[in-house]
Amino acid sequence: MRARAEHARHSPERGERPRILHARSWPIRGGAVLLGLGLGVGVGAVSAGSLPVNPASEPEAAAASSTAPDSVDAEASAIPAVTATAGSVEVEDATPVAEIEVVEDGPSIPDGALDDPTSFLVVVNKSRPLDPMTYAPEDLVNVEGVPGGSSERLRSEAAEALAQMRDAAVAEGLDFSIASGYRSYTEQISLHSLYVGRRGTTVAESFSARAGYSEHQTGWAADIYGSTSCRVKRCFADELIGAWVAENAWQYGWIVRYPKDEFDTTGYWYEPWHVRYVGVELSTWMHEQGITVLEEAVGLPAAPDYAD
Ligand SMILES: [Zn+2]
Repeated sequence: MRARAEHARHSPERGERPRILHARSWPIRGGAVLLGLGLGVGVGAVSAGSLPVNPASEPEAAAASSTAPDSVDAEASAIPAVTATAGSVEVEDATPVAEIEVVEDGPSIPDGALDDPTSFLVVVNKSRPLDPMTYAPEDLVNVEGVPGGSSERLRSEAAEALAQMRDAAVAEGLDFSIASGYRSYTEQISLHSLYVGRRGTTVAESFSARAGYSEHQTGWAADIYGSTSCRVKRCFADELIGAWVAENAWQYGWIVRYPKDEFDTTGYWYEPWHVRYVGVELSTWMHEQGITVLEEAVGLPAAPDYAD
């Protein structure tokens, strides 16, 4: 555990608690991925606004900007590893890299997967359009076994995983339907311009992606709903099925892609209905680490807005 020892360099004697605690928050988790993968992305790339405040534990409507520091400190101080292995190693001054702890069992992400539109690990956001922009998956299938799925398509692996998740929900007396799966580049052009016409660009782009920038175009994302009255609405989160999805989706390889209060990282307001297939390994790791944001989990910078 070389890096853990390095991290411990700063712990004794110097009264640097605040710096260390903040260093532990995101860089350790993200750094685990970064170092493990050798991606070499600077850990400072993610702003303090994306520190891993757990939305699920936040009070309703709490402002992230005011709660983040407290939450970070509270979380960090609960982690015993800082002092447990600190010892009294004397080393030179800290560099940001030296404060990163290596977690050996991070998710495995093959080279290029985050950029590969065919990979279920691809990350699409406002600074990461699909390449090519007009990409279309080759193995789209109807989502058999999920209500609404006869008119919606996903990549075959995602369709199967969504049906598995739905089976599990049904086994617990709950159910959901799919409102939207794959959307093509041209369909997204129409949808985006419809919303821009209705709401203006700024508001529209807080919930509707430009063509080429939508996860729906990957075939790995779905909008699901319980009651019709909360279809593609935040009140889905208040329904039993919405809460069940938030709690259990990871078991089937899915994440709620746009968590509450993470606009500064994801570029989108809370969408409890929009789930994204990332594979069971990554979804499980995120669940275990308490990381809810995909960008954070794979060590990519925040993408609150388009470059232009
Ligand atoms: Zn969606």
